[in-house]
Amino acid sequence: MSKGEVHVVHLYPREMSIYGDLGNTRALSARLTRHGYTPVVHNHHPGAVFPEQAHLVLGGGGQDSGQARVEADLEAIGPRLTELAAGGTPMLMICGMYQLFGNAFVTVDGKRLPGLGILDVTTQGNPKRMIGPVVMSTDFGDVVGYENHSGLTRLAGGQAAFGRVRSGFGNNGEDGTEGARTGNVFGTYLHGPIIPANPCFADALLAYAVPLATGAAFRPGELDDTLADEAHTRQVARLVG
Ligand code: GLN
Repeated sequence: MSKGEVHVVHLYPREMSIYGDLGNTRALSARLTRHGYTPVVHNHHPGAVFPEQAHLVLGGGGQDSGQARVEADLEAIGPRLTELAAGGTPMLMICGMYQLFGNAFVTVDGKRLPGLGILDVTTQGNPKRMIGPVVMSTDFGDVVGYENHSGLTRLAGGQAAFGRVRSGFGNNGEDGTEGARTGNVFGTYLHGPIIPANPCFADALLAYAVPLATGAAFRPGELDDTLADEAHTRQVARLVG
């Protein structure tokens, strides 16, 4: 018997799912099934009504043009996302969507895309791209992934980072911070995709989502993560070993 339904909302899978970020939704949904829960995935497209139930919200990276295409819808659903975030709903926003969960993203051509301000960060486009594999230390141990962005992100005073880069550029290549975290909302430049590459972080998100969905604590099953763990160990050893 299922341990309960968990509603997963993927924001803008057409416009914002570059570098395999759709894999985050697939992997979380597969993990829910393997843990004994029933995932219900909602793909939210611009102009659609936001799903009534949302226990986990995911967003990926995209080009500046994709970000511009989702801008109006994001403003429309912003109050709902802000309310869900305040209520502890876990959210994982990668790269382009991370930037739009901040205060603003100013593209390299000087176009200003306002953000939701859920994360107190601001991003400035920059002619030099930051590309390559990353290892960062976080509350969930070392997290690995791959970054490719032009935006330089700065955290406002008081805004917590998601992690500290051990190898890679992170938010801006200067201050050692990577991503941002407020409550259960995570923004990061790490594609990877990050979820299949970091089972420990994946299950942490599920542990936040399940009580909201079912009213009971997360009861994980026994999962075999050998392949992911081996790949993770290799990336850490290669970059910082
Ligand atoms: N357009 C943004 C940047 O380059 C986001 C890129 C991405 O999501 N990979 O900074």
